[in-house]
Amino acid sequence: MRQDGFLIMLPGPTNVPDRVLRAMCKPLIGHRGPEFRELHERIVENARYAFQTEADVFVLTCSGTGGVACALENVLQPGDEVVVPVMGVFSERMAETARRRGAKVVEVPVAWGSAPIREQVEPFMHEDVKALCLVYNETSTGVIARELPALAELAKEHGALVVVDAVSVLGGDVLPVDKWGIDICITGSQKCLACPPGLALVSVSEEAWRAIEANQHRPFYFDLVRAREFLRERRETPFTPAIPLFYALDEALAMLREEGLEKRIERHARCARAFYAAVEAMGLRAFPEPRWRSQTVIAVEVPEGVDSRALRSAMKERYGVLIGGGMGKLRERIVRIGCMGIISAREVLITVGALEDCLRDLGFPVEAGAGSEAAKRELGLL
Ligand code: PLP
Repeated sequence: MRQDGFLIMLPGPTNVPDRVLRAMCKPLIGHRGPEFRELHERIVENARYAFQTEADVFVLTCSGTGGVACALENVLQPGDEVVVPVMGVFSERMAETARRRGAKVVEVPVAWGSAPIREQVEPFMHEDVKALCLVYNETSTGVIARELPALAELAKEHGALVVVDAVSVLGGDVLPVDKWGIDICITGSQKCLACPPGLALVSVSEEAWRAIEANQHRPFYFDLVRAREFLRERRETPFTPAIPLFYALDEALAMLREEGLEKRIERHARCARAFYAAVEAMGLRAFPEPRWRSQTVIAVEVPEGVDSRALRSAMKERYGVLIGGGMGKLRERIVRIGCMGIISAREVLITVGALEDCLRDLGFPVEAGAGSEAAKRELGLL
């Protein structure tokens, strides 16, 4: 382990500001006392700002997958029908989570590297569909489902709930939960919120509550009705929360508010543009079609003749820069770079510079400085 830590350019977890890390060292408190209630209340209030919702937001002590499971197991009863556009590993997981719940899962196949549009999903929707479940930012392919507002509208036309996995995007791209009619939105602490891993946040609309209250098969630990009782009546969580992580999230959300959501999203967009420009200037190709490119996860095809593992380990060993490999059938074919959280010109330029050098050393001809120059231009530094 490097003394000064790694530059974590993974698609999560991501770099965490010192301020957030230090917050975890504060003395522990009990979770049934006024100190926790005050902390919890502030977190929920600031989370509502990040989600752009007036709805309840729950902070769960679990990773993002737990948040998705919580949402689906509260809304769905065995036998319910759900529609899930599948375009990568995380949408596959969402479908599998619903299947294990006993739901009838209708998958809409979408080519990896692109995202669903209304016309693709429409034939699968009818009045018996309980929910449309969508991964907004498919982290395994670097794709954002930009048509989410139109898909949510479509779901509403058929009386279906809209459940959105926004684990790798909330706080890093546009996602007005209430305005777009999203009934349940899930995110994780360790991505665009720039907080350590271990917490999931879940928003629940009034319409979703109706389905949840009617559900006779709610899980015990993740029962949202019980969580609502604790949240509304006592400002507490039903079970012991990971208090140090709550401290961290409190600080991370305070930083988000200080910066402002709009500015933060624009910063992610600017840094993503710099990454994509650098990728092109280096003679590489981004994996997704241009219209679906994510601004929080940059998926890049590994050029022929270059070993993706060798590339990632050169980045790590030589520069201390961590980037992600591919997942599922893309394991060797792409590398993925996180453009999340505290992302700024500094992280972009260090990563691009390291990538240029390592690619050259592995035999791929990159003109010296080409990527960095293109990135700097997008960042307004040239
Ligand atoms: N959904 C998406 C879109 C993700 O990117 C991830 C993690 O990368 C998850 C779900 C699962 O989150 P976790 O690994 O925190 O359980």
